[in-house]
Amino acid sequence: MSAYHLKKLRLHSLRGRLTLWLVGMALLTLLSVGLYVGQLATQQRADSVGQALHATATAAAQLMGASLRERELDIALLSQELHVIQGPLSHPNVLQSLQLRRQARNELVWLGVVDAEGTVVQAVDGLLQGQSVAKRPWFLAGKERVFTGDVHEAVLLAKLLPATATGEPLRFIDFAAPIRGRDGRLLGVVGAHASWSWVTDTVQGAARQAERGTELLIVDRQGNILYPQALVDQAPLQRNPDQQTPYTTVSSNDGSEYLSSEVQVDTQTDNNLGWRIVVRQPLDDAMAPVHALRNRLIWLGVVAALVFGLVALALAHTVSQPIEELADAARRIELREGEPRYPQTTRVLEVQQLEQSIRSMTASLLAREQELETLNHTLEAQVLQRTHALAAANEELERLATHDALTGLHNRRHCDERLAERMAVGQRTGRTFALLVLDADHFKQINDRFGHATGDAVLQQLAQVLRTYTRSTDLLARYGGEEFVVILPENESVDDAVAAAEKIRVAVDKGTFAEVGHVTVSIGVCLWELSDLSVAGLVHRADLALYQAKRLGRNRVEAAPAGQVAPT
Ligand code: GH3
Ligand code: MG
Ligand code: MG
Repeated sequence: MSAYHLKKLRLHSLRGRLTLWLVGMALLTLLSVGLYVGQLATQQRADSVGQALHATATAAAQLMGASLRERELDIALLSQELHVIQGPLSHPNVLQSLQLRRQARNELVWLGVVDAEGTVVQAVDGLLQGQSVAKRPWFLAGKERVFTGDVHEAVLLAKLLPATATGEPLRFIDFAAPIRGRDGRLLGVVGAHASWSWVTDTVQGAARQAERGTELLIVDRQGNILYPQALVDQAPLQRNPDQQTPYTTVSSNDGSEYLSSEVQVDTQTDNNLGWRIVVRQPLDDAMAPVHALRNRLIWLGVVAALVFGLVALALAHTVSQPIEELADAARRIELREGEPRYPQTTRVLEVQQLEQSIRSMTASLLAREQELETLNHTLEAQVLQRTHALAAANEELERLATHDALTGLHNRRHCDERLAERMAVGQRTGRTFALLVLDADHFKQINDRFGHATGDAVLQQLAQVLRTYTRSTDLLARYGGEEFVVILPENESVDDAVAAAEKIRVAVDKGTFAEVGHVTVSIGVCLWELSDLSVAGLVHRADLALYQAKRLGRNRVEAAPAGQVAPT
């Protein structure tokens, strides 16, 4: 795993997609497992804490019920015992009996006998002796039956007993029972005040093993908190409406939430006080291990997601790298960027197949391209060749169209065109030019004597003479049969033209022709004049001069007269 992997990680790339999917799936799995486990742990934890609270509450309630019953029975027994005692309540034996009982029950802060009028006759340590308790509820109740009273603060004894270590007010539970004579007459009442701390210590002992933050409360019939002292002034607790469940979640008066279990204290006597033991634990404390578990799960999830992410990245890299390289290779092929680089080695079968396909596809494409290129070159060469041939053919056509096949001189048509051009230039510039019309003498006889082929050869030799004895600027043409025309653009006078014609005539006359030997020509000369408006007219004038030369004996030059008007 490296910066390379991360650098190339784009969300829309195959690698990005794969990583996202894998990490997403890992997170989803971890999240659902975490949520499920968290839920399960919360449920189980609440249940086990609730059950534990309930067990504690039950133990405390049973302990308390038993203790209260014992004390009540103690007092009842004592009243029976005193009943059988001979003599008045002030008898020393009575005191002795009280003191013995006091020794056995250390929690009895006050133990004494009261006469039927409510005056304390005897008491352990002489406390309140001689004082009247006629108005005290326990005395009034005790005259009638065995009595256990609700907890209350010390009234008369408060001044006589030492204060508690915590500074809390002295609180008692009262027990009382009537003392009756044999005849059933009320002799007095035996009364006892048990210290409240004895009760609370007893029940607190049951909650000693409880977990952190667990509170044990004693609540009276109306829901008033009797214990602990710190909560005594709080508003009455609501009774758990559902007595079936061993525990519930409740909100306390201060708004905090508790898991709470509530059990009735049953003394199994007539004096059931209707007290309840409430054992509760703040929900946060109860759930602390679950929260710790949840935190551990979160950390585990984060670490696992990280590990998954890295593994996913590596996996995505393994899968996507050959594909990315193939894509790169395809791009290089497309852009013709030299040799494509194919993936080094890959174990992914599909990628191997893909690579093989691209390779062979490229090879056949390149081969095809090569073929096309060769074909292109061949076609180009052919086109070039045909173009040359066409140009040559055109040239030949042009030559055929403008030249005479036998002599290679220009033909009559071309000659007429040039003449027309020259005449147009002459009309514009006023410059004149000369025209020679040349005819072989008695040519018919040559044909007749030597044959047509020899006649052709004579014509070719005549053309050669013309070429030799004219200027390159002159235009030579075979005008028909054994008749030739020469245009002399630079000869602007009749004399010059006649001289040029004479040069030709002499050359022919002096020349030797194969088989035939001596050949002569007659030449008509004509100078173009402004009045010559048509080619035919001009040629006709030259022809007239030629006829004149023929008439005068042949092998001579004759010029057309100046100012001659050509017939149209
Ligand atoms: P003249 O002196 O009056 O011109 O006499 P001529 O015999 O030359 O008379 P003409 O000009 O009327 O005769 C032309 C002859 O030239 C007729 C024809 O047989 C011959 N001729 C015309 N064209 C050709 C050709 O191309 N080849 C050959 N061998 N003979 C030709
Ligand atoms: Mg002729
Ligand atoms: Mg002739």
